[in-house]
Amino acid sequence: MTQSRVFCPRCGDPVPDREEPLPGEPRDRDASLCDDCYFEDFALVDAPERIEVAVCGRCGAIQRGKEWRDIGARDYTDVAIDEVTEALGVHVNATEVNWAVEPEQVDETTVRIHAEFSGIVRETLREEQITVSVRIARGTCDRCGRIAGGYYSGIVQVRAADRQLEAAERRRAVEIAESHVAAQEQGGDREAFITEITETDEGPDIKVSTNALGKAVATRIIEEFGGNVESHPTLVTEDEDGNEVYRVTFAVRLPEFRAGDIIDPEDGDGPVLVTGTTGGPRGVRLASGEICDGIHDARKLATRDDSVETTVVTVEDAHAVQVLDPETYESVTIPRPEYFDDSAETTEVLKSQAGLYILPADSWPTGEDRWISSGLTSSYSARRLSCDALATEVRVPSPFSVVFDSIWGKNR
Ligand SMILES: [Zn+2]
Ligand SMILES: [Zn+2]
Repeated sequence: MTQSRVFCPRCGDPVPDREEPLPGEPRDRDASLCDDCYFEDFALVDAPERIEVAVCGRCGAIQRGKEWRDIGARDYTDVAIDEVTEALGVHVNATEVNWAVEPEQVDETTVRIHAEFSGIVRETLREEQITVSVRIARGTCDRCGRIAGGYYSGIVQVRAADRQLEAAERRRAVEIAESHVAAQEQGGDREAFITEITETDEGPDIKVSTNALGKAVATRIIEEFGGNVESHPTLVTEDEDGNEVYRVTFAVRLPEFRAGDIIDPEDGDGPVLVTGTTGGPRGVRLASGEICDGIHDARKLATRDDSVETTVVTVEDAHAVQVLDPETYESVTIPRPEYFDDSAETTEVLKSQAGLYILPADSWPTGEDRWISSGLTSSYSARRLSCDALATEVRVPSPFSVVFDSIWGKNR
């Protein structure tokens, strides 16, 4: 038997037997080389010498191709490391690869990345050092460019119907807009932004990047406060494809009355404590304790905070109770509502132009959900009639949805 010897095809030195590749596996052309020849032009790492990267100076987004992407980089060193990591390759035959990286800030816009790699190739530990110079080009991304240019497409005007908007309502409306837009951004929508918030005497004007965003913000505001939205589209221009571009004003009207207001619907049945406002005010009659909704016109008398505590003198019958008038301290007979606790020695009353009435206790359920949870719904629903009977027209809470869908149909 003659011993078969294998020789390096480049230098002719004998090489130890190597495993033949499995059937169907490509034969590596370099696999037959001896170690010296193989390592002669072996590179563990393939990396460019320099990289240029555009970073938005306002938001930190970086440009990849034509697109700007948020990467949440804390500083340019992070950007440089990320870019180098994306750009380099490690030889496929290397195993147990480790690397350590050391950034060096050369000047304001240049970061040199020094990296050390190690890996096992042909059962040999190989080490390699590379240096990549990363130049940061500061730019402005498309979105920041539009924000800076004052671009907006929707404007949400928050106002209150027939009264001044309260400071807390202004704040909350802005908060709703900001948190909604922030959530869109978090979700990766780079087109969602607030361009500007202007506080006018009547209320805030919130300029947003898209009509969809304006609609969503307006809807969220009335979901929380009640009231309604009207939209007024204006044709601004046509885009490059000839599509009509609309700028839309969403006029949000918060309801005239709020929960806790005491109002007089002037229908002869006396004042109502407002408990909810979605789709129009509703509440409870102070004379009877009946639930009342479908209120159209009313006059505000006071708020719950204007009530005072007074002494209960005597319960006369199922419909009347005697209390001390909080101003004159005389005994007066007033209506006894359902919610009146006849074992109480004192009670909350409100004296207004409409007369003297007993208020439900603070702990008494006022919101719809609390009515349900307290089991009061069943006993009250049977008498849910008082103001309904007077209603002659039905108010559509958000007419804009109808108008709007047709406009959007055109835009899409
Ligand atoms: Zn060789
Ligand atoms: Zn930017």
